[in-house]
Amino acid sequence: MAEEKKVLIVSCSGASNTGDIADELARALVEENPEEYDMLCLAAYAIKRLPSLKKVSEAKSIIVIDGCSAKCASKILETGGVKPDTSIEVSADFQVKKNMELPRAEESDVQRVKEDFKKRVQK
Ligand code: SF4
Repeated sequence: MAEEKKVLIVSCSGASNTGDIADELARALVEENPEEYDMLCLAAYAIKRLPSLKKVSEAKSIIVIDGCSAKCASKILETGGVKPDTSIEVSADFQVKKNMELPRAEESDVQRVKEDFKKRVQK
Protein backbone atom coordinates (compact mmCIF):
# COMPACT_ATOMS: atom_id res chain seq x y z
CA MET A 1 0.00 0.00 0.00
CA ALA A 2 1.29 3.48 -0.87
CA GLU A 3 2.45 5.61 2.04
CA GLU A 4 0.27 8.60 2.96
CA LYS A 5 1.74 11.88 1.79
CA LYS A 6 2.92 14.23 4.52
CA VAL A 7 3.24 17.95 5.05
CA LEU A 8 6.95 18.71 4.63
CA ILE A 9 8.52 21.18 7.08
CA VAL A 10 11.54 23.04 5.74
CA SER A 11 13.36 25.07 8.40
CA CYS A 12 16.50 27.14 8.17
CA SER A 13 18.22 26.04 11.44
CA GLY A 14 20.44 29.17 11.31
CA ALA A 15 23.21 30.11 13.77
CA SER A 16 21.15 32.55 15.83
CA ASN A 17 18.29 32.56 18.30
CA THR A 18 15.73 32.86 15.49
CA GLY A 19 17.37 30.01 13.53
CA ASP A 20 17.16 27.88 16.67
CA ILE A 21 13.46 28.66 17.03
CA ALA A 22 12.82 27.71 13.39
CA ASP A 23 14.59 24.41 13.98
CA GLU A 24 12.88 23.70 17.32
CA LEU A 25 9.47 24.45 15.86
CA ALA A 26 10.06 22.07 12.92
CA ARG A 27 11.26 19.26 15.20
CA ALA A 28 8.40 19.72 17.65
CA LEU A 29 5.80 19.53 14.88
CA VAL A 30 7.22 16.27 13.54
CA GLU A 31 7.74 14.80 17.01
CA GLU A 32 4.18 15.59 18.07
CA ASN A 33 2.51 14.47 14.84
CA PRO A 34 4.73 12.13 12.78
CA GLU A 35 1.76 10.86 10.79
CA GLU A 36 1.12 14.36 9.43
CA TYR A 37 4.55 16.04 9.27
CA ASP A 38 8.02 15.24 7.98
CA MET A 39 11.24 17.30 7.89
CA LEU A 40 13.62 18.07 5.05
CA CYS A 41 17.43 18.02 5.31
CA LEU A 42 17.85 21.46 3.80
CA ALA A 43 21.61 21.15 3.25
CA ALA A 44 21.06 17.87 1.38
CA TYR A 45 18.42 19.54 -0.77
CA ALA A 46 20.86 22.38 -1.50
CA ILE A 47 23.41 19.92 -2.89
CA LYS A 48 20.63 18.11 -4.80
CA ARG A 49 20.71 14.81 -2.91
CA LEU A 50 18.14 12.56 -4.51
CA PRO A 51 16.25 11.50 -1.34
CA SER A 52 15.70 15.17 -0.47
CA LEU A 53 14.59 16.10 -3.99
CA LYS A 54 12.15 13.17 -3.84
CA LYS A 55 10.72 14.26 -0.48
CA VAL A 56 10.01 17.72 -1.86
CA SER A 57 8.43 16.47 -5.06
CA GLU A 58 6.22 13.96 -3.19
CA ALA A 59 5.10 16.20 -0.30
CA LYS A 60 1.39 16.78 0.31
CA SER A 61 2.25 20.43 0.97
CA ILE A 62 5.26 22.43 2.13
CA ILE A 63 5.65 24.76 5.11
CA VAL A 64 8.86 26.78 5.18
CA ILE A 65 10.11 28.28 8.45
CA ASP A 66 12.80 30.95 8.08
CA GLY A 67 14.52 32.48 11.07
CA CYS A 68 14.84 35.99 9.68
CA SER A 69 14.33 38.21 6.66
CA ALA A 70 17.29 36.66 4.83
CA LYS A 71 14.84 33.77 4.16
CA CYS A 72 17.57 31.26 3.39
CA ALA A 73 15.28 28.22 3.48
CA SER A 74 12.80 29.85 1.07
CA LYS A 75 15.63 30.86 -1.27
CA ILE A 76 17.20 27.40 -1.26
CA LEU A 77 13.81 25.90 -2.18
CA GLU A 78 13.46 28.49 -4.94
CA THR A 79 16.69 27.19 -6.54
CA GLY A 80 14.68 24.04 -7.29
CA GLY A 81 11.72 26.05 -8.56
CA VAL A 82 9.69 25.21 -5.44
CA LYS A 83 7.23 27.63 -3.84
CA PRO A 84 6.00 26.66 -0.36
CA ASP A 85 2.28 26.55 0.45
CA THR A 86 2.91 28.35 3.75
CA SER A 87 5.83 30.62 4.73
CA ILE A 88 6.72 31.60 8.28
CA GLU A 89 9.42 34.08 9.26
CA VAL A 90 10.18 33.79 12.99
CA SER A 91 11.56 37.32 13.46
CA ALA A 92 8.75 39.17 11.66
CA ASP A 93 5.77 36.88 12.30
CA PHE A 94 6.44 36.23 15.99
CA GLN A 95 8.32 39.42 16.94
CA VAL A 96 11.58 37.79 18.04
CA LYS A 97 14.61 40.06 17.61
CA LYS A 98 17.38 38.16 15.84
CA ASN A 99 20.59 37.87 17.87
CA MET A 100 23.59 36.24 16.20
CA GLU A 101 25.44 36.12 19.52
CA LEU A 102 22.84 33.64 20.74
CA PRO A 103 22.96 30.22 19.05
CA ARG A 104 20.16 29.14 21.41
CA ALA A 105 16.87 30.93 21.82
CA GLU A 106 15.24 31.77 25.12
CA GLU A 107 13.01 28.84 26.08
CA SER A 108 10.12 31.24 26.68
CA ASP A 109 10.38 32.46 23.05
CA VAL A 110 10.47 28.88 21.74
CA GLN A 111 7.32 27.98 23.69
CA ARG A 112 5.48 31.15 22.69
CA VAL A 113 6.25 30.67 18.98
CA LYS A 114 5.18 27.00 19.13
CA GLU A 115 1.86 27.92 20.73
CA ASP A 116 1.22 30.85 18.36
CA PHE A 117 2.09 28.71 15.36
CA LYS A 118 -0.34 25.97 16.38
CA LYS A 119 -3.15 28.51 16.84
CA ARG A 120 -2.50 29.91 13.35
CA VAL A 121 -2.38 26.47 11.72
CA GLN A 122 -5.54 25.31 13.52
CA LYS A 123 -7.56 28.37 12.42
S1 SF4 B 1 17.02 32.73 7.42
FE1 SF4 B 1 18.19 34.03 8.87
S2 SF4 B 1 18.45 32.75 10.73
FE2 SF4 B 1 17.89 31.37 9.02
S3 SF4 B 1 19.88 30.63 8.17
FE3 SF4 B 1 19.24 32.45 6.99
S4 SF4 B 1 20.31 34.18 8.01
FE4 SF4 B 1 20.30 32.47 9.45
